[in-house]
Amino acid sequence: MRKHIVAGNWKMNNDLAMTESLITELKNQSQTSNAEVMIAPTFTNLWHAFEALRSSNVEVIAQNMHFAESGAYTGEISAEMLKSVGVQTVILGHSERRAYFNETDELLAKKVDAALKSNMRVIFCFGEELADRKAGNHETIVGNQIKNGLFHLEAEAFKNIVLAYEPVWAIGTGETASPEQAQEMHAFIRETLANKYGQETANSVSILYGGSVKPNNAKEIFSKPDVDGGLIGGAALNAEDFYTIVNAF
Ligand code: PGA
Repeated sequence: MRKHIVAGNWKMNNDLAMTESLITELKNQSQTSNAEVMIAPTFTNLWHAFEALRSSNVEVIAQNMHFAESGAYTGEISAEMLKSVGVQTVILGHSERRAYFNETDELLAKKVDAALKSNMRVIFCFGEELADRKAGNHETIVGNQIKNGLFHLEAEAFKNIVLAYEPVWAIGTGETASPEQAQEMHAFIRETLANKYGQETANSVSILYGGSVKPNNAKEIFSKPDVDGGLIGGAALNAEDFYTIVNAF
C-alpha cells in the first residue's frame, strides 16, 4: 500500500506571527484520513514550526535547499542546517524555483543527491507548461524532467523519493487538471518508473498532484488510482480548507 500524503506548500507567505496563528488553527483541526500531513513554512519559521508541532503528527518540511554541504554560498541553506532544526523532508524542483530561479534539471539532480546523502526525504516536483500541453508534448517534457533529475539514482533511493506532478498552468490559477488528466499523467509517470526500475519500485512510490487543489475538488482527484496525495499551495493557508483536503482520502 502506498503512502497517502498531503503537503501544504506555504511558499513566501506568513511571517512569524502568522505562522504561529496558522499552526494554532491547524492543531484545532481533526484528521479522519490516513494521510501523512506536512507543512512547508518559509526558512525563517521552520524552527518555530517544528517546536510548535513537535507532539503532533504534522511534519515540518522545507521548500528548497542548496546542494553544497557548507561554505561560501551567501544566502543559501544546506541539508544539514535543515536537519539541525528538525526538518527531514525537502521539496525540490518546484516550478517556481525552475522558472524564477533558473533551476535546471542538472542542478536539481545535484540537490537530490545532497538531500539523499543527508538521509532526507525528497518531494521532487515537475510539470509541463500550457504551451507544452497544447502542443501535445506534456508527456515528453515530464518524462525528461524525471529522467534528468532522478534516473541516475539506484532503485533503492526511491524509498526516500516522493514525486509531485504539478502542471504549471494549474498552479495558483484556479484551473485544475481534470481528475482524468491527472490520472493519465500519473499512470504515465508510474510506467516511466517501471520501465527503468521495475514494477515493484514504481508501485511503491507516492505520486502527488499539485495545482489548484481545493476542498471542493480534492476528493475526486484523490479517488484516482495513481494519485497518492496532493501538494497544496493557496488552500494550505487556511487550516479548515487544508484539513478538508487532508480528510478527502
Ligand atoms: P496552488 O499551488 O495549490 O496554489 O495551485 C500548488 C503548488 O504550487 O504547490
